[in-house]
Amino acid sequence: MINGIKPLDRSLRWGMVGGGGTSQIGYIHRSSAQRDGTFSLVAGAFDIDAQRGKEFGRSLGVDEQRCYPDYQTFFAEEASRADGIEAVSIATPNNTHFEICRAALEAGLHVVCEKPLCFNTEEAQILEDLCARQRKVIGVTYGYAGHQLIHQAREMIAEGLLGDIRIINMSFSHGFHAEAVELDNPSTKWRVDPRFVGPSYVLGDLATHPLFIAETMVPELNIKRLMCSRQSFVKSRAPLEDNAYVLMEYDNGAVGSMWCSAVNCGSMHGQKVRVIGSKASIEWWDEQPNQLRYEIQGEPVRILERGMSYLHPRALEEDRIGGGHPEGLFEAWSNLYRRFAIAMDATDRGDAKLLENFWYPDVHAGLMGVRWVENCVRSADSGASWVEFR
Ligand code: NAD
Repeated sequence: MINGIKPLDRSLRWGMVGGGGTSQIGYIHRSSAQRDGTFSLVAGAFDIDAQRGKEFGRSLGVDEQRCYPDYQTFFAEEASRADGIEAVSIATPNNTHFEICRAALEAGLHVVCEKPLCFNTEEAQILEDLCARQRKVIGVTYGYAGHQLIHQAREMIAEGLLGDIRIINMSFSHGFHAEAVELDNPSTKWRVDPRFVGPSYVLGDLATHPLFIAETMVPELNIKRLMCSRQSFVKSRAPLEDNAYVLMEYDNGAVGSMWCSAVNCGSMHGQKVRVIGSKASIEWWDEQPNQLRYEIQGEPVRILERGMSYLHPRALEEDRIGGGHPEGLFEAWSNLYRRFAIAMDATDRGDAKLLENFWYPDVHAGLMGVRWVENCVRSADSGASWVEFR
């Protein structure tokens, strides 16, 4: 159980690029990073608008001298200080991730980067190689992957409670963008513009989340080939999709499907992962994150509740409040940030033993998401044909 005791004997000096006062995602980064005392916010280039970023940083208690106008100045100035930052989080629109990540690694920083990590596999590979060369970590914020019940599912599947895995059904399909809301909403506007998001909208923005959750639950499965059909129901979004279906075949004979959508009217989020084996199934839904359905063929459904002593020790390790009280996205993110800090610290100390089996969404997880989107787009743009996963 996490009870406020820091897992490290230090706090990493930490800054942010983006995530300013008008952003959607900056606040959850700050509250998760600082919750367990593993990161302390000391600097940033928080906003594309330098003055607004400075005022925002000051309001957070950051020294005005360390609120920078852009990431280049930020990394250069901090590198010249004895007490300069050790880690940085990147919470800017997608088109900037690659350049900022690369600059951060080259400046000797550990990185937490938003998904999707970048636009294509070549870029992701450059970042993975750079991490290895610089001995630095990139953590990727697939937020709900840090939720305890995802790890309960992983342990149950590894123990064979589901039997042989046959089918994985995934979805992330909400209804918030059923109309052209981007006309009035700056946070949505860049999401449907290829200059900012590259070759996809919902495949990269939404589907990469349940995809990584499924990879976490069933890590041994590899996609062999896939087929994707994508649509732009709000016509002005073409060629970017606001709805897509993907069928996948895995190398062990299992099959999978993904439905991602921003036009699923009435749905709040619809992020679900259902893993079906030869004996039983497991289903997790982000709108009821504290319950995991365990369905054995021929028996009544069991609902496993977060925080209960019957869960696997791995699923209790990051329990913060006990059963009955709900935990959700903020706690799942805090678990990720806690793990990012442990991985960064272990990397700095050269603690290969700790890192050997230490789970967190790393640069390779980021690369796999980018690769998956690339394959989906290739399939969709060749008439929804089956393509070998490469
Ligand atoms: P947003 O448009 O609401 O905010 C972007 C922020 O970045 C703003 O503060 C803006 O001023 C700042 N910014 C833009 N360019 C910058 C630059 N060059 N230097 C410094 N600051 C800059 O976007 P958002 O919704 O917060 O999304 C940001 C990122 O987070 C995206 O990559 C998005 O995909 C990701 N995201 C992830 C999740 C998740 O669950 N992990 C959820 C939402 C968004």
